[in-house]
Amino acid sequence: MLLAKLSFAALLGASLVAAQLGATYKCDPAVCKAPACRCASTAAPVANPPQFLMLTFDDSIQDSVWTQAQSLIANRKNPNGCPAKATWYTQVFYSDPYLTQTWYAQGNEIADHTVDHITPTGTYQQIEGMRKWASELAGIPLGEIKGFRYPFLNYSAESIAMITKMGFEYESSMSASGADNVWPYTLDYGTVNDCLGTYPLCGVNLNATGLWEVPMYGVTGTDGAQHLMDPYNDVGVTPEATTAMYRTAFDAHYAGTHVPFGVYLHPVWLGKTAPNPTNPVVTADGTPKLNAVAAFLDYAMTQPNTWMVTASQMVEYMKNPVPADQLAAQPYMSCTPNPPLPTNICNAVAGATAAGAAAPEVCNLITGAFKTCYGCPVSAPTLLDPSPAKVNTARFPLPKTCDSLWWDPVTGTCTCTAPGCTYTATARPVNMDQNSIYAVGGGNGTAGGNGTSSATPGSGSSSGNGTPVSTTAPAKAAASGIIAGLEPLYAAAAAVVVGFFA
Ligand SMILES: [Zn+2]
Repeated sequence: MLLAKLSFAALLGASLVAAQLGATYKCDPAVCKAPACRCASTAAPVANPPQFLMLTFDDSIQDSVWTQAQSLIANRKNPNGCPAKATWYTQVFYSDPYLTQTWYAQGNEIADHTVDHITPTGTYQQIEGMRKWASELAGIPLGEIKGFRYPFLNYSAESIAMITKMGFEYESSMSASGADNVWPYTLDYGTVNDCLGTYPLCGVNLNATGLWEVPMYGVTGTDGAQHLMDPYNDVGVTPEATTAMYRTAFDAHYAGTHVPFGVYLHPVWLGKTAPNPTNPVVTADGTPKLNAVAAFLDYAMTQPNTWMVTASQMVEYMKNPVPADQLAAQPYMSCTPNPPLPTNICNAVAGATAAGAAAPEVCNLITGAFKTCYGCPVSAPTLLDPSPAKVNTARFPLPKTCDSLWWDPVTGTCTCTAPGCTYTATARPVNMDQNSIYAVGGGNGTAGGNGTSSATPGSGSSSGNGTPVSTTAPAKAAASGIIAGLEPLYAAAAAVVVGFFA
């Protein structure tokens, strides 16, 4: 108890420090203007803004976590009648490409969370490798992979500059609470988050012009402690308390300037046979935790003008903020593609069934089985080769001129026939050579493996060296005063219990 009280006292002291550090942040709104730039601020960007709620999942997308993740978004609607959406910060290892593609086809977001989540995670190879895997095995258009979250939330100045160079639109690893509970902003003038204690990035030029920061918003428990990810796993926090603390914090955001709210989960904790966070050798029924989150979402989504959005929708909003009554008319909130989306994502033909040649292939690899519409690789993805050569070349890779929503990898045709679904990729092609992004003009490398519609498997070089940049950033939990929510502990526990870093 003494320790807890000391921690609480330290937190209060740290909050005062935060306010002082915030004063060193220099950003002139007259110079830094939307859509390219926005200063950090707790003030609403317009009068009467909507209340945004971001639900995010981290780590691998696989069968064992799919049901619980789906249950949290199923049957939820935004005020315009469109499905509520969520973001998945996806790691390559142990993810199922077919489920990853399905998540995307549902209108949700796939963001980058590295290849293996383990070895130095802020490196080029880790980050670019996920892009390569997602585009070549899961049919995610490169231009739709817009965001990045650091494993263990362990960012550094060097790696933030690197993802800016790589063309990412936003990052979401910094935590916010109290004085730094700001609306999303660009990092042109540095960060205002995680400035407590001795964390060295506040006041530092991050070389991140135009890179949006979508902060992770902490919540306060009844003991005064701050919680961030998977709060139900924190000491002394029951499922009931989880619902209550989410609700109290959400109400405060709602009653204030409508600063966006977030729920940050690893869905592996929510399954019927989840790891036990305090004893990794046994399992625990995560259903009460799942129900606790669902109860909060049920409550939040009944509050007027509350929208459950992806992080990239959030960024689109910040580029051109509008009052709540105009949000439904914004194109990025639309959910009515024309013609209707295919029902079978593998052959992109509306009404078709996932059978025969159009079915996803099942790939049995040394790390386990997964499914893909884009042809099984000859070996399991690795950090150095996240998208190995294909067993056969019968499936056509996603071209630049068609979204996978409409691409038939079996026949190599784009089934989009209406203006509303045309697509032209403009994102930087995959290039596993790190040096290329430091070339003049940001390096629009020519070795991308995602651009043709021939039967040749995407073949971007996988032999890049990916020289590690600094990964020695101090732990965020210590820096921010927030209980970071067991991302590190989680990874270790999951590795022991279920054999993957989900
Ligand atoms: Zn993670």
